[in-house]
Amino acid sequence: MGGTWNTARSFRVDTKEAALALEASVSGCPRVLVVEDDAGIADAVVYALDRDGMAAQVAGSVEQARASAAFDLAVLDLGLPDGSGYTLLGEWRASGDRPAVIVLTSRDGEVDCVASLEAGADDFVPKPFSPRALVARIRAVLRRRAAPGVLARAGAPGPLHLDLDRRTAVYDGRPLELTRIELDLLAVLAAAPGRVLTREQLVTRVWGGRVAMTERNVDSHVKALRRKLSEAGARTTFIASVRGVGFKLSETP
Ligand code: CA
Repeated sequence: MGGTWNTARSFRVDTKEAALALEASVSGCPRVLVVEDDAGIADAVVYALDRDGMAAQVAGSVEQARASAAFDLAVLDLGLPDGSGYTLLGEWRASGDRPAVIVLTSRDGEVDCVASLEAGADDFVPKPFSPRALVARIRAVLRRRAAPGVLARAGAPGPLHLDLDRRTAVYDGRPLELTRIELDLLAVLAAAPGRVLTREQLVTRVWGGRVAMTERNVDSHVKALRRKLSEAGARTTFIASVRGVGFKLSETP
């Protein structure tokens, strides 16, 4: 972990307390990693992000990007002094978190546009670009990412039906009386059936990464959710604990 978040509320992180306070101060506001070696472009992007209420952190190289703090979305220049943006794209894609990525491509880089989407980018923006237009694209990608309802409906296994627009959950025809957190938790798990999510990932996705959330908090919400599911007829292992790691929703209820 390294780097600082550049926001109106940002400050240097040199103690653990400062790091926690900073994380808290940026919670709820999207954290964007700007991987760009051209300082002029990076500054313009950071300025536009800041004006739009997003937190930005700049990395000028592949190595700096690897050392950055956790982020929600990366703006990724492909040509970096110590390597290619594609390397980072591949690494992020292979990581459990799979951050959203918008690739910056050169003016005539049609090949790069296609290749970056195939490599897992969410969108691309050709250079030169207007920082405000880039911010609009960032917002659009984050909105798409934040719509787990679509994912949950597509991926929810068998008897589980989630409707995140109406905020309802039904198991095997029986409505579940879930709290807001329990429904979000179930939606996040149901978006990736069979995949283990760490407590940290659950905190980030359900609570927006607020640091006040402890592992025990997560466990107690999972416990309550499990009880309600089992009352509706689900096996207790429908939400399985993976020792030392986290939880997963069984693919076969
Ligand atoms: Ca470059």
